[in-house]
Amino acid sequence: MRTEYDVIVVGGGPAGLAAACSAKEAGAEHVLVLERDKEAGGILNQCIHNGFGLHYFKEELTGPEYAARFVEQAEELGVEICLDTMVLAVQEHVVTACSVWEGLVYLKGKAIVLAMGCRERTRGAVAIPGDRPSGVFTAGTAQRYMNIEGWMVGRRVVILGSGDIGLIMARRMTLEGAKVLACVELMPYCNGLNRNIVQCLDDYGIPLYLSHTVTNVEGLQRVEKVTVAQVGLDRKPIAGTEMVFDCDTLLLSVGLIPENELTIKAGIPMDNATRGALVYENMETQEPGVFSCGNVVHVHDLVDFVTAESQKAGKAAAEYAMKRSCPEGGRVITVNEGNHVTYTVPQAIRMDNVDNKLEISFRVNSVLRDAEIHVKDGEKLIAKFKREHMAPGEMEHITVPNVLLNKVEGDEIIVSVELQKEV
Ligand SMILES: Cc1cc2nc3c(=O)[nH]c(=O)nc-3n(C[C@H](O)[C@H](O)[C@H](O)COP(=O)(O)OP(=O)(O)OC[C@H]3O[C@@H](n4cnc5c(N)ncnc54)[C@H](O)[C@@H]3O)c2cc1C
Repeated sequence: MRTEYDVIVVGGGPAGLAAACSAKEAGAEHVLVLERDKEAGGILNQCIHNGFGLHYFKEELTGPEYAARFVEQAEELGVEICLDTMVLAVQEHVVTACSVWEGLVYLKGKAIVLAMGCRERTRGAVAIPGDRPSGVFTAGTAQRYMNIEGWMVGRRVVILGSGDIGLIMARRMTLEGAKVLACVELMPYCNGLNRNIVQCLDDYGIPLYLSHTVTNVEGLQRVEKVTVAQVGLDRKPIAGTEMVFDCDTLLLSVGLIPENELTIKAGIPMDNATRGALVYENMETQEPGVFSCGNVVHVHDLVDFVTAESQKAGKAAAEYAMKRSCPEGGRVITVNEGNHVTYTVPQAIRMDNVDNKLEISFRVNSVLRDAEIHVKDGEKLIAKFKREHMAPGEMEHITVPNVLLNKVEGDEIIVSVELQKEV
């Protein structure tokens, strides 16, 4: 292992691998990936279902297959991957990491890419009342136990939350012989991808209770009963609507939290909405030479988009390392949220650094139909895009060509959704 690299990538999931490969392809000579797990690939290694790579490879792969393609590519390109290595701090381009092989090491990177992914919200984070027996798992933990360790986690299951992990686990548990009694969602809409609602719930006759929540967990050693109640517009349970399910397992799919402890410790400015770092058009954070990509910046629905975003970050990191990045001091405009938009990535744009188009990702706050996405400079409409259907569970992307972007005179653009019909 060297002590100095052109680009050091923290995290060897799909984001880190794509960033490392594209840094190499852009000319960075020494590129290192540090991964705490015993294999690269991140969360994809436990996602043995298909549905990955439809956009990027134009074929349907399983998670491990998708990850393997990038691991192979990284090896062919000569990216150094250090497994079983936990990064403890990133300060002023010095990465402190620890592994059984090397002990504590301090590595200098001309550019750094942060790609640490997400962790799941737990029972404590959503404060579910009741007993504390065994049998309450986050859906991702159950997925790891079943798909990697080979353990069956339960036989009669209730799932709280309709995020993609919960939906996929509803199908997975059914295929393994469990009875999934219900998927319960607090919001009046499903939080997962439409294709997962159809393929994971509808195809197996699993009922989805929208505007419901779990109000009690009972059981001494193991979960025995879970009480579910309807909620009102205030999201509070409505007395008298309780249903009791006899079950031994409660799976939680109640959201992901970007793993940004390193980012926060490094003093890098964060976005309260995404809970990731604030990034510019090329995924550079506000700390020069430190880039961030993938789920650690904002929670993605599809890994293909993680790959595309991370390739951008890797290329930009290589350019920074080779001192080919844009000079500082040019015009910067911010990207802000308007009607129905909960966040945007990037949050700021250095106009001199936009090649010929600007890609913006965002999410909406409710299910919307017959909508138009507007990009505005004050009252002036710069670009608009039609969408038949939008939902909070699906990430939206727009591409604004430079010819339109150059018309912006103010110091901010607003992305909003204007609609004819709200569901
Ligand atoms: C259950 C589930 C089902 C999914 N299903 C689909 C699907 O069907 N189709 C699809 O396209 N997408 C799907 N996704 C989404 C996709 O898997 C993610 O978008 C993608 O894995 C995010 O990539 P990432 O590299 O940002 O994060 P991760 O995959 O989480 O990788 C982050 C990596 O960083 C490492 N790391 C974190 N902190 C440190 C540290 N301090 N030091 C060293 N290493 C560190 C972690 O160990 C991990 O390997 C699914 C996700 C989940 C969780």
